[in-house]
Amino acid sequence: MTTITPSTQTSQDLFTRACAVMPGGVSSPVRAYQSVGGQPFFIASGSGCHVRTEDGNEYLDFVGSWGPLILGHAHPAVTSAVQKAVALGTSFGAPCLPETELAEKICAMSPVLDKVRFVNSGTEATMSALRLARAVTGRDGFIKFDGCYHGHADSFLVKAGSGLATFGESSSAGVPTACSALTGVLPLDNEKALEEWFAANGDQTAAVFVEGIPANCGLLPQRKEWWKKLREVTRAHGTLLVVDEVITGFRVAPGGFCSLEGIDADLVTYGKIIGGGLPVGAYGGRKDLMDRICPDGNVYQAGTLSGNPLCMAAGIAALDAIVAQDGWQRLEQLGSHWERLLQPLLAREIAAGHPLTLTRRGSLFWLCFDATEAPRTFAAIPSSGAKRFARFFHELLSRSIMIAPSAYEVGFLNLAMDEEILTQAAVAFGEALEASR
Ligand SMILES: *Cc1c(COP(=O)(O)O)cnc(C)c1O
Repeated sequence: MTTITPSTQTSQDLFTRACAVMPGGVSSPVRAYQSVGGQPFFIASGSGCHVRTEDGNEYLDFVGSWGPLILGHAHPAVTSAVQKAVALGTSFGAPCLPETELAEKICAMSPVLDKVRFVNSGTEATMSALRLARAVTGRDGFIKFDGCYHGHADSFLVKAGSGLATFGESSSAGVPTACSALTGVLPLDNEKALEEWFAANGDQTAAVFVEGIPANCGLLPQRKEWWKKLREVTRAHGTLLVVDEVITGFRVAPGGFCSLEGIDADLVTYGKIIGGGLPVGAYGGRKDLMDRICPDGNVYQAGTLSGNPLCMAAGIAALDAIVAQDGWQRLEQLGSHWERLLQPLLAREIAAGHPLTLTRRGSLFWLCFDATEAPRTFAAIPSSGAKRFARFFHELLSRSIMIAPSAYEVGFLNLAMDEEILTQAAVAFGEALEASR
């Protein structure tokens, strides 16, 4: 075992150092705490459902690296698989057995996959799936939904324009207008918007991208009737339905959202969990579509480190460990326990005149401050809630609980948690709610 020497610098010192050499001091923007105020902690280590900061403080972690750590931090099976793999060499740029093994596993579990291609992130997965959809249909336009996140490729950094269903405006500087003009943005939860879009633009629409359970802008589960309509209109217009399961894949059910809800997607994207905490992404679907990918077909996509043996080993170990403990059933048990603990706390806040809602699907949960009804669209999320959330966030931190530093991010339960830990956490949640009114 290596011993960790505690840093002699506090998180505050370390953040100052980081800011001098990295934009915002971070490698991904939300980590900088800008929407909640204050400064981020530097995490030195994680074990099970806890993280330890460079300052030597311990927090119960409801972030789980934003989704991948369904088993908690440093799960022994994953750690030992990576240790074994690393000793054999870290990258070959040539086929290796663990790729085939992980591919076999996820193709067997996912109802959508005949074949899969591994990439290094969820961003690469959606970007590549879009290229494939464009190649297959010979169309350039596609649509996404307001409030869904599909990584940071140019085509997806697009927000809704002024109308109900429009080609979008880029949501980041540096995205060419010529690119964002090909991305349509529709509201969720609205069959009429779908019908109108497809009546006007259906035969120019290569694909619809949608998160299985939209979980990057609050948790916005969609109605079965909406999903039915979505599949109907896409099929009628020869548009591919691409379900982005980067969060939901292998979390909400063994085969992800598509198997849970019986969604007959054309393509799916995965990431997060299938890398066991190492960088990975994947996209795949029916054989006839995937056969268009290079070298079998003419849709180019490649990666120096793709199918990396460490990531593959971690992914295999993580999936095996979840299966071995019937993890999906256990997560649902934990989730319903958590929901039962939170409900009376919410009732108390509401009675005191401070409305908020709880949305939960399996191990994903989201508190929406100032809402009186659980939102199903981005537009229905009250922006006023962010202020109260910021206070709530810091009240939780002071009670040794870490949740994501944004009102629009969901909470993640993991298999290292248990009923007792959640019961204790609920006490802190109750106090923090009251203190942040
Ligand atoms: C996280 C996420 C992505 C992007 O994945 P990265 O690995 O961060 O690039 C894409 N889609 C969804 C639904 C996600 O949650």
